[in-house]
Amino acid sequence: MLFNQLKEQYSTCTKCPALCQSRSQVVFGSGNPQAQVLFIGEAPGASEDKNGIPFCGMSGKILTELLTSVGISREDVFITNTILCRPQDNRNPAKDEVQNCRERLDKLITIMKPKVIVTIGNFATERILGKTGIKSLRGKIFEIMINDTAVKIVPAVHPANLLYNGRNPEIFEQMKNDFKTISAVIADNKPKIQKKWMDFS
Ligand code: URA
Repeated sequence: MLFNQLKEQYSTCTKCPALCQSRSQVVFGSGNPQAQVLFIGEAPGASEDKNGIPFCGMSGKILTELLTSVGISREDVFITNTILCRPQDNRNPAKDEVQNCRERLDKLITIMKPKVIVTIGNFATERILGKTGIKSLRGKIFEIMINDTAVKIVPAVHPANLLYNGRNPEIFEQMKNDFKTISAVIADNKPKIQKKWMDFS
């Protein structure tokens, strides 16, 4: 299956009745689908639901700042979420919603074949690593086998956490440090020939 086919398939998904009510659109992802690096957040919020782009609201501003601080542009990576639809009042994704979106994320990973996956926050980290506790997992480098290929996984604190903590400078510094780790892992796993994203749609 091709990237555009997967995107098309999920643009009308109706697996989660509550999410069909609360979303105004399916937010599939943004960036470069041929990138070697995949960022996975939790779920679209209000701005993302309105604009159809993940991390385009307040959390997104922080994510872009963190990426920029280590010289990575949003176009160098692909960004998606654990679930593709906005939950009502930004509640946490339900277990069955994560499960319903599981095949979609697995298929995306199979198509993209990322070398590095950054899991942003607890939900994405649990979804990919099966581990909880972002405070102790953040900034660590894991390696798992996906479709017989070794993939590096780096969990990161969710930018919303910084917002809840009044933009605490210490937390922000720690997040920037974790992004240095992410940038180093990406540099270590760069392919010899960089693929360019060409949109044939
Ligand atoms: N938070 C997320 O986890 N994902 C988004 O796309 C926006 C905010």
